Amino acid sequence: SLSDKLQNVFKSLRSKGRLTEGDVKSALKEVKMALLEADVSFKVVKQFIKAVQERSVGADVMNGLNPAQMVIKIVNEELVSLMGSDTTEIQLRPGNEITVIMMAGLQGAGKTTTAAKIAGKLKSKGRKPLLAACDIYRPAAIQQLQINGEKQGVEVFTMGDKISPVDIAKAAVEHARSHNLNVVILDTAGRLHVDEEMMDELIRIKDSIQVDQTILVVDAMTGQDAVNVSEMFNQKVGIDGVILTKLDGDTRGGAALSIKATCGKPILYTGMGEKLSDLEQFYPDRMASRILGMGDVMSLIEKAQANIDEEKARNMEQKLKKAQFGFDDYLESMNQLKNMGGISSVLSMMPGMGSKMKDLESAVDEKKMAGIEAMILSMTPKERANPDILNPSRKKRIAAGAGVDISEVNKLVKQFEQARKMMKQVPGMMGGKGGKRGKF
Ligand code: GDP
Ligand code: MG
Repeated sequence: SLSDKLQNVFKSLRSKGRLTEGDVKSALKEVKMALLEADVSFKVVKQFIKAVQERSVGADVMNGLNPAQMVIKIVNEELVSLMGSDTTEIQLRPGNEITVIMMAGLQGAGKTTTAAKIAGKLKSKGRKPLLAACDIYRPAAIQQLQINGEKQGVEVFTMGDKISPVDIAKAAVEHARSHNLNVVILDTAGRLHVDEEMMDELIRIKDSIQVDQTILVVDAMTGQDAVNVSEMFNQKVGIDGVILTKLDGDTRGGAALSIKATCGKPILYTGMGEKLSDLEQFYPDRMASRILGMGDVMSLIEKAQANIDEEKARNMEQKLKKAQFGFDDYLESMNQLKNMGGISSVLSMMPGMGSKMKDLESAVDEKKMAGIEAMILSMTPKERANPDILNPSRKKRIAAGAGVDISEVNKLVKQFEQARKMMKQVPGMMGGKGGKRGKF
């Protein structure tokens, strides 16, 4: 595995300190191979390695990691940020407005299956979906959709195979309107290869009804082909997002990286099996460690990270015992919480949590944090270390310095005292493990 290979590269190295150019070069040679083996396109690999090399040389090797692991940590972070750092949802229109989603992709990619998977997901979120059978070419395509729709308890709209897909799509939207349904999912036809006729049909549908989201379904097993297909569909038809299917196979899924890097469209979901429940949110961080083929090393890195936090926490506990816990420590502990991602990152791991809600929450948090930071920075070092000396005139000065009302300072002091009391009662609660995200 990549981790074994990297351990070999660094076998002779016992140094901590900084990563040298030599360290990075030999490690990245192995990373490059791993990415190519995972089907990441050559062009993307080249750009990527260059970026990582620039970032890595001279970087500090984190406590608890060896140089190989440090390089992997950086590689992983860059992979995640390339793939978008965050999860993306299908955009739906508000309220009872009808959202039209058009599935696109080659034959056998998984359009019909995925359409039913999405319908089930939306239904469980309280939406009222309608599946529309617009594949009139493949024998039994309509029946396949009907069977899947029935399994999901979602209505399937069909007009047989004698009517044009454009007219079926139009009628499906009308049907949704008159039956109070609010998401129409068009299951379209695919062909074995990208061809004009298929593209034209999709374009005609787009021209005649308002398609809100064109979702491209690609088979992860096809590797490099999936990337070319994405580029073609995006150029000709225009796509809003990609669903990568058959990731339950043994592919490492490098296509995810190349697709995002070449056509810039987000991966929305991943297909993890033939069952209609096998649709998962796309998590760039999980995908990154899958592409590298090294969940083991990643968990090691996480542990090292947690240890560092724990060390800090232990120091704080010592201070608490000696009643030295001051505002600087308070600020530090809040920053630590923030670094761990706080509640919002936990929320974002839960299926069905809208990204909007998450944004709102973190914005509020950050505003609060900034205010608290301003107040603490307005204190003298002596005040920060000995919160008990804060009398009204000092509080007034601090409020003026931070540009807030004195009531804000009082609130902060109260919160601080509560935190101090709580932490005295529950030793270990500042431990670095608490906010760990549910990766791997
Ligand atoms: P379409 O031609 O694009 O509509 O593709 P289908 O939905 O008919 O799927 C083609 C085949 O792939 C079917 O046998 C599906 O059961 C299978 N399939 C679809 N998605 C997945 C997936 O995520 N994992 C696996 N293992 N099989 C899948
Ligand atoms: Mg189909």
